Amino acid sequence: MSASKTYIVEHLDEELGPWSELEYLAIAKESQENGAKFCLSSLPAAFKVPEGLTAIPAFIAETRGVEEIYAQDKSRVCLLDPAAAKDLAPEDGETFDVFLFGGILGDDPPRDRTSELRKKGFEGRRLGPKQMTTDTAVRVTRMVVEQKFPLAEIPYLDFPELKWNEHESTEMPFRYVKGEDGKPIMPAGMVELIKKDADKAIDDLM
Ligand code: SAM
Repeated sequence: MSASKTYIVEHLDEELGPWSELEYLAIAKESQENGAKFCLSSLPAAFKVPEGLTAIPAFIAETRGVEEIYAQDKSRVCLLDPAAAKDLAPEDGETFDVFLFGGILGDDPPRDRTSELRKKGFEGRRLGPKQMTTDTAVRVTRMVVEQKFPLAEIPYLDFPELKWNEHESTEMPFRYVKGEDGKPIMPAGMVELIKKDADKAIDDLM
């Protein structure tokens, strides 16, 4: 199996919100840095892909759905599925070269929208028992299939609390990879966006 991997996120939400945009930019940049491709599939024809994404050579915008793209090649594709019976392992990098993710924002409790992709019959692998953001799920998959980390040896941070000041904080209900600075790895601009949303939620209460 070739070393070059494709990470494909099937667009399932109505629109591309600011959270997803930051997540997809992070996936595209990391794919570029690692010699991989990042494809956003099933985009509506009229979809305006943000310029930041189109500027990254590793990024591919695709109107076809994943079923159509890989109709002849289904066995190359691994669906990252929180309900799969088997966890992802380094040797899966020899079996699959395309890794498929649901283009869904995390929700708490999870609504299992990955089931929309499960129905299409791709082989599934789980990334452990906790829900990850989409960019984290891609990062962890890359660490396992490219860098050969067993899933259990990746440093994680579960449900980190982002502290805004002495009294206010936001707990993120997801699993993240722990960065070298001890903080959760998040897309550039994400902390600021979460803070803005938290401030708005407080304003709306007043
Ligand atoms: N609440 C979601 C649902 O409705 O399925 C999970 C969405 S998660 C934010 C986005 C994508 O990341 C999922 O569709 C899946 O491909 C991947 N993902 C996240 N956590 C995962 C896990 N623990 N195991 C496997 N895949 C995961």
